[in-house]
Amino acid sequence: PFEVLIVGGGPAGVAAGIYTARKGYKTGIAAERFGGQLQDTLGIENMPGTAYTEGPKLAAELEKQVRENTIDLMNLAEARTLVPAGQASELHTLELDNGAKLKARSLILATGARWRELGVPGETEYRNKGVAYCPHCDGPLFKGKRVAVVGGGNSGVEAAIDLANIVEHVTLVEFDSKLRADEVLQAKLRSLGNVDVLVNAKTTEITGAEGRVNGLVYEDRTSGEEKVIALAGVFVQIGLVPNTEWLGDSGLALSQYGEIAVDDEGATNLPGIFAAGDCTTVPYKQIVVAMGEGSKAGLSAFDFLIRNAPA
Ligand code: FAD
Repeated sequence: PFEVLIVGGGPAGVAAGIYTARKGYKTGIAAERFGGQLQDTLGIENMPGTAYTEGPKLAAELEKQVRENTIDLMNLAEARTLVPAGQASELHTLELDNGAKLKARSLILATGARWRELGVPGETEYRNKGVAYCPHCDGPLFKGKRVAVVGGGNSGVEAAIDLANIVEHVTLVEFDSKLRADEVLQAKLRSLGNVDVLVNAKTTEITGAEGRVNGLVYEDRTSGEEKVIALAGVFVQIGLVPNTEWLGDSGLALSQYGEIAVDDEGATNLPGIFAAGDCTTVPYKQIVVAMGEGSKAGLSAFDFLIRNAPA
């Protein structure tokens, strides 16, 4: 069995593994996709000490560090079920999608998050054919074209500001009667000449022809009228969803948003199970935050292991 088994190979999971492996504990990482959101990220300019890097490059460096620390990396391994240990001296069981059952004395859950989907007709059909979730990755594909950003929170308004600099025109579509983004972002948005903002607009469909997006249909919630915007791309920016559905009835405490509830030390409500990064209740979903929280969870697992002898 593993002494520490980490679920998730993003910045949080890797940081946790580096810490526990360096304590001499037998550590494994099971990751559905090593690197996590880094694999979808282009420029990263907010890592203190690293003026500029790119997500896949950072992920490759993290993988190198995982190998150097002799961490057992299981990539393309999706966890399906968690059966917590009955007692602190017993083993937790993690079942993977390939049927493998892994045993561990302690667990660190670092399964991250993903963009929330609109759930309207056309969204799935035209994904990567005009429907996008990552302005940093896909913005340049729409150079000289008209796009919409759905969502008026910080991520939506940031995306609209970002895209306005690249594309011909941006329509920001918000369901509510007002934007929820920080005022400084809204002011910046209003200062841009090629952005329209629609509020009280419920996106109902993404249309297309010949395999590509050609429009967005919305209901004007004030008049009840249905309206169509002709465009080439739709960026969906309506929030992040924690990857915690699989924890179902494991007994692990989640917040109302499905985030794993952790204390200051990264401990969950279950003994020997810790969590870190975007899948937790810790605010500010950022790389350095995830790495810091992962390190904390690793040290907490160490602390647990030295206090609880195996059965
Ligand atoms: P993630 O990176 O989401 O990694 C989660 C890991 O868990 C992955 O390996 C995933 O495959 C795995 N996993 C999920 N479910 C399971 C399962 N059931 N079984 C096994 N494995 C599972 N942050 C910044 O600080 N600066 C930026 O410039 C920046 N730009 C970004 C740009 C984009 C497009 C995106 C999407 C995010 C960006 N972020 C940025 C946010 C940053 O990427 C995240 O905060 C960070 O990656 C979170 O790390 P994490 O380890 O918690 O989760």
